[in-house]
Amino acid sequence: LTNMRMASTVFALSSGQGKCGVAIVRVTGKRVGDVFTHMTHPATLPRPRLAALRHILHPSTGERLDRGLVLWFPAPHSFTGEDSCELHMHGGTAVISAVLSALGTLPGYTPAQPGDFTKRAFHHGKLDLTAVEGLGDLIHAETEAQRKQALRQMEGALGELYESWRKTILHCRASLEAYIDFSEDDNIELGVVSDVESRVQGLVEEMKRHLADGRRGERLRSGLQLAILGQPNVGKSSLLNTLIQRPAAIVSPVPGTTRDVVETVVDLGGYPVVVCDTAGLRKTNDVVEKEGVRRALAKAQQADIAVVMLEARQVLQAIKAGDFKWDIYLMKHFTQMGILSDQKTTSDSNDEMIVLEWLSSNSYVTLVNKVDLICSEEDRRLLQTALADKCSLLSIKTEEGLGRTVQQVKELCAALCDVGMAENPTLTAARHRTHITACLNSLTSILEPDNWSAVEQDSYKIKQNYKCSPQCHHLTPYNILLQPKESLTSEPMERQRSLLEQEGTILLAAHHLQRAATNLGHVTGHITSEDVLNHIFSAFCIGK
Ligand code: GDP
Ligand code: ZN
Repeated sequence: LTNMRMASTVFALSSGQGKCGVAIVRVTGKRVGDVFTHMTHPATLPRPRLAALRHILHPSTGERLDRGLVLWFPAPHSFTGEDSCELHMHGGTAVISAVLSALGTLPGYTPAQPGDFTKRAFHHGKLDLTAVEGLGDLIHAETEAQRKQALRQMEGALGELYESWRKTILHCRASLEAYIDFSEDDNIELGVVSDVESRVQGLVEEMKRHLADGRRGERLRSGLQLAILGQPNVGKSSLLNTLIQRPAAIVSPVPGTTRDVVETVVDLGGYPVVVCDTAGLRKTNDVVEKEGVRRALAKAQQADIAVVMLEARQVLQAIKAGDFKWDIYLMKHFTQMGILSDQKTTSDSNDEMIVLEWLSSNSYVTLVNKVDLICSEEDRRLLQTALADKCSLLSIKTEEGLGRTVQQVKELCAALCDVGMAENPTLTAARHRTHITACLNSLTSILEPDNWSAVEQDSYKIKQNYKCSPQCHHLTPYNILLQPKESLTSEPMERQRSLLEQEGTILLAAHHLQRAATNLGHVTGHITSEDVLNHIFSAFCIGK
């Protein structure tokens, strides 16, 4: 089916839907030349990659449909790697539909499916799979940092890194195989195996570093989760509205208005942040409200950042009551909200865990809102001294301290998903993580025989009790013998370094290297399944 589709010539509107100044239709495939010979006047091929002004005609009636610029991209110098062309015409709905239906009458022409152009580019080796994903992300990028990451990936940074790893692994495998073929002459091959070992060691370290990125790239791609938590009426919805600059959640003076979780994606300093305004947290017997609280807590548990909001007057009251300690106050506050149970009601110990986790992690911010309601200078000073650098004091109403608070949240986002652009490109999808992890495991098993499968380990143990000849230059991982015990013990000691034994050893390592390379091949698309491709291309639009 794929081949049949690839054989046809496809076309699509590549610019946006609806009325616009200029509309662009792209065509790709073997019969692209027909556009020029049947649908343009003059009916000649324009110079490659140079715009030419032409009449655009209906192929059978010869009726003029529009006048526009046409471009011809002969293979392989096109986006898809095939013969391609572009028609730039007037963006009226009638013009677009007339040209599209005219194209449909050309023999061997079919309308493109979503992602068809990119799929062809991939099949013709113009893009590897990570670049395809980067391109998809670039089209969907909504913030600066997302755009940068996607562009970098589209340009091949991630693909190049993985491809360089794959090449190293294949090279190692080839070395081992050459060793197997020629090892009669030990002098020539001396050092080959240890060279492979150190290369594998280097790769293992590099991959471990690559995987230990705190999921930055994935977070940046999908958006950071930020949950706003606090008692009803402290100003959670107001904060969300300030962050998004438009009224999305209802701000109301009646406690308990936000009963469900409202999610909005905002751009905070270039980072995509999914802000969740949660139901106010408080002890309640109302069934609906209880559910709201439960969801708020569930949200907080998933969130990358939790913003805990308090109310200035309440905090001031506690300070005035004396013996004020911030941590203890917070704990008490959580208890009041029904998150932390007091000793008597230990039913929801899970909630308690959530809170304790926040308190011990860096990824939460505490805000004390409504400072504008604290009028006396003395009270203000009291608050400031007690809270010092423990939390942010602000008023969403007067915007006092608001800029500083937003900045603080932005910095937190940056810390959680900033992908230093100078370093190696970052992993951006769970798909990559799965395959790189599998690759790493294959490589590690070469270096750590302890983790080998039972059969492998068994043969390794045999080796432990087995004396190598003084000339033996093999390093531990490659000394593994794959032969069954019987054949080993029956061999006389003099023949212990038979060629066959070595081959068994090296073959196993070569086998693991092959597996590692295959896993990288899955990421870059050297090895693919139709399912994976369909999944990736389904995120594309028609005309891309
Ligand atoms: P939520 O229940 O925590 O989401 O609180 P809301 O955002 O709905 O706000 C509750 C009430 O507090 C509304 O009437 C807001 O206008 C008001 N409010 C929010 N922030 C401030 C503030 O900084 N100062 C004052 N005086 N009122 C505020
Ligand atoms: Zn609210």
